[in-house]
Amino acid sequence: MAKNQQAIQAIRGMHDILPEQSPYWQWLEHNARQVLASYGYQEIRLPIVEKTELFKRSIGEVTDIVEKEMYTFDDRNGDSLTLRPEGTAGCLRACLEHGLLHNQSHRLWYYGPMFRHERPQKGRYRQFYQLGVETYGMAGPDVDAEMIQLTDRLWRKLGIRDNVALQLNSLGTTEERAAYRGHLVGYFKQHIDVLDEDSLRRLETNPLRILDSKNPDMLPMLREAPVLLEHLGEESLRHFDSLKTMLDDLGIVYELNTRLVRGLDYYGKTVFEWVTDDLGAQGTICAGGRYDGLIEQLGGKANHAIGFAMGMERILALVEQLDTVNIASSVDVYMIRVGTEAEKAGLLLSEQIRNAIDGLKLQVNCGGGSFKSQFKKADKSGAEFAIIIGEDEAARGEVALKSLRIEQEQVSLTHSALLQILEDWHQNKPLA
Ligand code: ATP
Ligand code: MG
Repeated sequence: MAKNQQAIQAIRGMHDILPEQSPYWQWLEHNARQVLASYGYQEIRLPIVEKTELFKRSIGEVTDIVEKEMYTFDDRNGDSLTLRPEGTAGCLRACLEHGLLHNQSHRLWYYGPMFRHERPQKGRYRQFYQLGVETYGMAGPDVDAEMIQLTDRLWRKLGIRDNVALQLNSLGTTEERAAYRGHLVGYFKQHIDVLDEDSLRRLETNPLRILDSKNPDMLPMLREAPVLLEHLGEESLRHFDSLKTMLDDLGIVYELNTRLVRGLDYYGKTVFEWVTDDLGAQGTICAGGRYDGLIEQLGGKANHAIGFAMGMERILALVEQLDTVNIASSVDVYMIRVGTEAEKAGLLLSEQIRNAIDGLKLQVNCGGGSFKSQFKKADKSGAEFAIIIGEDEAARGEVALKSLRIEQEQVSLTHSALLQILEDWHQNKPLA
């Protein structure tokens, strides 16, 4: 006899998306796909596991992700592999590997789970979903503006536009950052007593990242720090200025955030984030920037790239909080069958209905039960109508139809009359 065993639970920070929530995910995914298609972007599907080396080389050794967040393991051959913590590296790896960057430009997107060993909290998980968008072969700033434009369109479609704000900065070129770095380190050394442990460690390795610190005790000091924008060269400034003009022309308001440096090493020139005040500490729903330099770093020829990723859980948390989305029920019509003949008649009729009305969601009662118990299930399904077949209806080759949502007499109908009514209803149904 099997002993009572303790139930096994999911891994901390990794969540199930239950049937009640999945319609919201589908709604978000559908809208994102539609917006991307309307700008001519194509999907690329990528492996979830890559060689560890890829992330070390691209994201940078002294970033949060590589230092402490990666799920890394040796496979059976002893190769070091990592569950992808983000999608940019894999996407670029694939494009280089398949020669997609030779004299071409591409507008791509991918979607799926990412993995980071972070401290789980609201808006921060160990498996989370990102939709990532990357373009290659375009120097910008027109494509930089396009990326922001398409996210702006998506927020409007999702009904969250009034709750998010765009932050913008330019990180210039590698040389400009290197020169600025000297000034910045000098400044931090004058204020070494205020630096926390993380920042002291970064002072030598990645001082720009200190600007990004959320530590409130450091904020006054950070506000006075030298500003990278003031150390940019002519070309970088021209790029940034034209981007800002395009956004002005589009009527997209932005906020300059000179301390926006992003967590990853590979960014240069344009960086941006979409942030909200409505989600507490985890307020960034979408973030990205230009990363021309990464292409050579991964063994390609000098080229141009810009991309961003949005955090699906955070967007959905915002949508849920605003409570403005109406999700359609997963069932339109529920079929009640009582008796052997009724079950048989219903089985065939249900297929006829599906043949005739594309897209109608028809659920057939399975597992028997009285009229009363089947009506209860019909009601709970969220269906608009119940089709009822008892022994009498089956014998006459008819059905009864009852509205489950409005007061209305139950009516007896022939199969063809039923089809007509359902078809009319389905065609005039308000879209979710
Ligand atoms: P954060 O500063 O919040 O840690 P990040 O800079 O590490 O973000 P990116 O690597 O830029 O994040 O990822 C892009 C987006 O993915 C983020 O803006 C956020 O919406 C989402 N995201 C990142 N990490 C997580 C996570 N652990 N759980 C849920 N969403 C996440
Ligand atoms: Mg992070």
